[in-house]
Amino acid sequence: MTRKTKIVATIGPSVYSKDSLNKLVEAGANVLRLNFSHGTYDEHEQTVQWVRSMNKNVAIMQDIQGPKIRTGTLDKSINLNVNSDIDIFNDESKQNEESVVINYENLLRDINEGERILIDDGKLGLRVLKKEKNKLTATVEIGGELRSHQGVAFPDSKLSVSTLTKKDIQDLEFGKNLGVDFVAISFVRNAEDVLNVRKYIDKDIKLISKIELKSAVKHLKSIIQESDGVMVARGDLGVQLPLEKIPLIQKQIINESNLQGKITITATEMLTSMISSHRPTRAEVSDITNAILDGTDAVMLSAETSIGENPIDSVIAMAKICEEVDISSSENMINTKEIYNSDELTNSLSKAAVQVANDSNVKAIVAFTETGRTPLLISNHRPNASIFTFTTTDKTFNQLNLIWGVEQIKIDRLETTDEMFAIANKWLLNEKKFSKNDKVVIVAGTPPNKEAATNLIRVMKIGEY
Ligand code: PEP
Repeated sequence: MTRKTKIVATIGPSVYSKDSLNKLVEAGANVLRLNFSHGTYDEHEQTVQWVRSMNKNVAIMQDIQGPKIRTGTLDKSINLNVNSDIDIFNDESKQNEESVVINYENLLRDINEGERILIDDGKLGLRVLKKEKNKLTATVEIGGELRSHQGVAFPDSKLSVSTLTKKDIQDLEFGKNLGVDFVAISFVRNAEDVLNVRKYIDKDIKLISKIELKSAVKHLKSIIQESDGVMVARGDLGVQLPLEKIPLIQKQIINESNLQGKITITATEMLTSMISSHRPTRAEVSDITNAILDGTDAVMLSAETSIGENPIDSVIAMAKICEEVDISSSENMINTKEIYNSDELTNSLSKAAVQVANDSNVKAIVAFTETGRTPLLISNHRPNASIFTFTTTDKTFNQLNLIWGVEQIKIDRLETTDEMFAIANKWLLNEKKFSKNDKVVIVAGTPPNKEAATNLIRVMKIGEY
């Protein structure tokens, strides 16, 4: 495996067929994201059926919508002219060519004079001039075309809305029945929001907190502590905060996630030009490269694969960019980072395994895992050697698709440590064409039949078993 950075691809109309999904995975998508802000239950269910029937090694991520606030329904788009004043209601019946409807029940309570309202990722900008009993009046600061159901953000306001909506709770139940591997939570504000979602999902589903609000950046450390991973959700983040702050916040999020030994995804506008073009821009190639050098595990495609004209080419281009960084850069920034959860024995052993591998010309690190924690920690130390992971658990097998540098193998339950060494020996000889006397480091919890925590490191020579 020359590409170590993983790719998340968002599903949508552009890839809505078994054949397209198959091509997406063949092109290099490791995780498919079902965006529950769009699509019907039937479509999501059909997608999962197609994906599972392909029998491919790919994970499914459910991304719940959260309290996304949208504009009302318009028969045709209207133009908002700069410096003009416009009335804003939260009642669809008030929609006309001179008004904006925003579907948020606490609009008149939560939004105050002087605060900004950004529509469609900031393409339109309003500032509230006056607040009355049944309407707000705003001046248009950034003009343009207003279409139906555009996302609305209030970067200056404190909203009283809860992170988990009724729709999210229903969607989580639906996702559980679909057997999703990850849940991504939108608009997380603090660690309590993460704990709240945990109540609705099975223990073996991994939770990814999307960092897209100012308050999430403020509570970053505790949010990451309660999550299995984070997503740098640069779309909404770039609406909530000045755009020029996003690159450094991206580094801050990735760094904190690396330090806590958690999964990181960098998302949004990574290959936007490829929505309509067959080639990425130089800036996009640099952006992806830099996210990998920052220490992200995975990079994500959104509109590029869901509604773009070139979904498969986008994945191919992304895979190529990742591969180039992964083979060229032994100077990965993350090599020097210390995971600070160091009281965890699994972390000490993982770190030691990487140290031995780096110092002793070892060709591979082999991890036996139930939960995926050991290979994640090994990966977090970014070893030069390949990481191969054996697991008996289907969910873990799927979830390893999001971890940098890990290749996973599904096995039946073993009884003894010798069986572990023998199975690794045989697989590396047969599947990876390792030679006699090649050195590998094994990390495992023993005895294997007791679900023991990681407690063993062994340097093995191929051919010993
Ligand atoms: C984002 O805002 O960057 C993001 C990934 O969220 P969504 O695509 O759900 O808007």
